[in-house]
Amino acid sequence: MIIILSPAATDNDLDELLTNLKDRGYGVHLSKGVEKTIVGVIGAHDDVKPMIAEQLSSLAYIERVVPILKPYKVVGREFHPDKSIITVRGVDIGGQKVVVMAGPCSIETEEQTLEVAKAVKAAGASILRGGAFKPSTSPYSFHGLGEDGLKMMAAAREVTGLPIITEVMDARDIELVSRYADILQVGTRNMANYSLLQEIGACRKPVMLKRGMASTIEEWLQAAEYIANKGNYNIILCERGIRTFETYTRNTFDVSAIPALLGLTHLPIVADPSHGTGKFSLVSPVAKAAVAAGCDGLMIEVHPHPEKALKDGPQSLTPDHFAAMMQEIAAVARAVGRYV
Ligand code: PEP
Ligand code: MN
Repeated sequence: MIIILSPAATDNDLDELLTNLKDRGYGVHLSKGVEKTIVGVIGAHDDVKPMIAEQLSSLAYIERVVPILKPYKVVGREFHPDKSIITVRGVDIGGQKVVVMAGPCSIETEEQTLEVAKAVKAAGASILRGGAFKPSTSPYSFHGLGEDGLKMMAAAREVTGLPIITEVMDARDIELVSRYADILQVGTRNMANYSLLQEIGACRKPVMLKRGMASTIEEWLQAAEYIANKGNYNIILCERGIRTFETYTRNTFDVSAIPALLGLTHLPIVADPSHGTGKFSLVSPVAKAAVAAGCDGLMIEVHPHPEKALKDGPQSLTPDHFAAMMQEIAAVARAVGRYV
């Protein structure tokens, strides 16, 4: 349930309310918007909510007590009507700028990582992506360099200043990956790995949660709720395509998920047209569609030699293609009141 304070409520009123709720053993989530202050109550059982609502509505400084009927609460717009901005080493994700995260699918060598990092930075990317722990459908594929790969990303950050995002696949690796990463990535195959989500919720590292390839928007938001529910609100969502009957593309990129999410959640939304299409020639057009639809960021795979990439070469842009894409999305961003 959420409690909306009346415009006349003072700081003392707010303190009194928070103490009242905490004394009852509930968690609180405070959202101080420009127009309204909203207190989200976490942990109250359905059967006691009507009683709490009745008690609190006797207080003059409370405008309304509203139950939240949706299965996700903390990540929903009702809880927090303003958009959330997640700041990573000075980069704001969820603001006016469309933040571009770019880099290789897999970290392969120090030279490859640095070459891509410099190229994507020069073209306007704000964050370096790269996989060191790689999930794979086949057990025989490349699974990444592990900690050596993380070190290579950290070295590229030293040189370029770009914050880094990388995947964590196993709760046992959260501590290790967090030592290097600025943003943890949860991949599509782990979106519903609830124990991993809960462990990530217990740390405060920003996390980007990719959509499960067979998950509905509501299931995805509930997965995000698993992280938020443990106290980590630094969550970014990433649409990366879903499975449909279409096989021409690797996945079907669900562009409609972006405006749908904008209405449902305050979390920033990133689009990944690389995994969303699986084909380099489709990456730039779909990136433009995602920006037009209102995404807060893009995740793009870039490799200096896609034909030699250990993973996902067919969907990787060369640095030149990436620079051209950046020009194209800048024009679209301007058209929708954003910038790159
Ligand atoms: C990735 O971004 O490297 C990746 C494996 O993506 P996904 O989990 O979306 O397949
Ligand atoms: Mn990939």
